[in-house]
Amino acid sequence: MLDGAGLRTKALRIDGREIAPTDLRQTESSLTIAQSALPEGDFTFSAEVEIDPEANTALEGLYLSGGIFCTQCEAEGFRHITWYPDRPDVMAPFHVVLRSDKPVLLSNGNPVASEKGRAEWHDPWPKPAYLFALVAGDLVAIDDHFTTRSGKPVDLHVWVRPGDQDRADFAMESLKKSMIWDEEVYGREYDLDVFNIVAVDDFNMGAMENKGLNIFNSKLVLSSPATATDLDYERIEGVIAHEYFHNWTGNRITCRDWFQLCLKEGLTVFRDQSFTSDMRSAAVKRISDVQTLRARQFREDQGPLAHPPRPDHFQEINNFYTATVYEKGAEIIGMLKRLVGDENYRKALDLYFERHDGQACTIEDWLAVFHDATGRDLTQFKHWYTDAGTPQLTMIEDWQDGHLRLTFRQETPATPAKATSRRASFRSRSALSAPMATRFCPDRVGDDRGRAELCLP
Ligand SMILES: [Zn+2]
Repeated sequence: MLDGAGLRTKALRIDGREIAPTDLRQTESSLTIAQSALPEGDFTFSAEVEIDPEANTALEGLYLSGGIFCTQCEAEGFRHITWYPDRPDVMAPFHVVLRSDKPVLLSNGNPVASEKGRAEWHDPWPKPAYLFALVAGDLVAIDDHFTTRSGKPVDLHVWVRPGDQDRADFAMESLKKSMIWDEEVYGREYDLDVFNIVAVDDFNMGAMENKGLNIFNSKLVLSSPATATDLDYERIEGVIAHEYFHNWTGNRITCRDWFQLCLKEGLTVFRDQSFTSDMRSAAVKRISDVQTLRARQFREDQGPLAHPPRPDHFQEINNFYTATVYEKGAEIIGMLKRLVGDENYRKALDLYFERHDGQACTIEDWLAVFHDATGRDLTQFKHWYTDAGTPQLTMIEDWQDGHLRLTFRQETPATPAKATSRRASFRSRSALSAPMATRFCPDRVGDDRGRAELCLP
């Protein structure tokens, strides 16, 4: 069974032979081929379809933006291009041939051949269809290059409309900084011969991490000292980094299904936040992240749209690109890092990349690497992924005979997504003189209604 939407099907073949109409069952969103029509063992399925990018105003799949053909396939856009098993856990290498009268023809991976009106691209890294991309248009490039830590040369291009070339330098600098940072802090190197960024005017999301061909809303690429503010520069640098970091956290290791969206987004937001902290002021970055969290995510949690970072049901995945999945997802990673410490965090991440490279994973896989790398039981911590709502924390101080006794009570109010509240309380056990915040270990809290000692040095 293959997914498809709005396709005009011209021909369907197996090993070059047309499939008989009696072996096909087609609905508005799926195509089922009778088992009896399939040969034993491997076979080649081909579909010839007709689509109309000019009429595509949903900007999902292939569409036109100011005369430039471009794509957006996350989460379920590829099914608007052709029949395909459009699920993130179906990963394959892609070989793409483009024919067009547009002068610049781009797709994922490495360029294989190029002549007037024709270009061929090969992406050797297996990927889900949501990371597929193509661009065809009248574009000009800012060119640069990068050598990875292990000596691999990479061509870098930022593609913009003719006339915008002098506004793309900052984006290029940001890309190079991101590549260095990911090598130094996470040990992650880039893995293709070329990395392309394209700026287009019409784009639903801010930017998209398609393998080797990131597509950006032009406001997140173009800048000039005459018009850009400090905040504009910070945002461009942060988003370029975010999409680049997805190459490992999202592309090489992707999500098994869309319920796991925060696996790639929470982690990649956390990574881009850490990058900005290192590039600029860590304190200012933290303050602005907390302001955003309180202004957007806390409100989401207090309203009818409250949902856990890992939702357990959805009608339309596009509605789940939320502050809870992204920003709260990133806070959870931050807590995890604080719990296990910097050294153990790096150990766990190394294991994550080693164990799961090329796989489509779950939150359970993610937590398992922390358990296996550090020996820590994260059963209790996992509630952060499955509970909706902002926990309320109450602290009671009791100062007697030179001893300070602290009692903490934590309660997560009920939300529409989860009818019952979760409560826990715990108390310090000894005299305390150290600052509290750095000693607080929420994973030591007892179960739902239980009581547990607070972990103190
Ligand atoms: Zn992202």
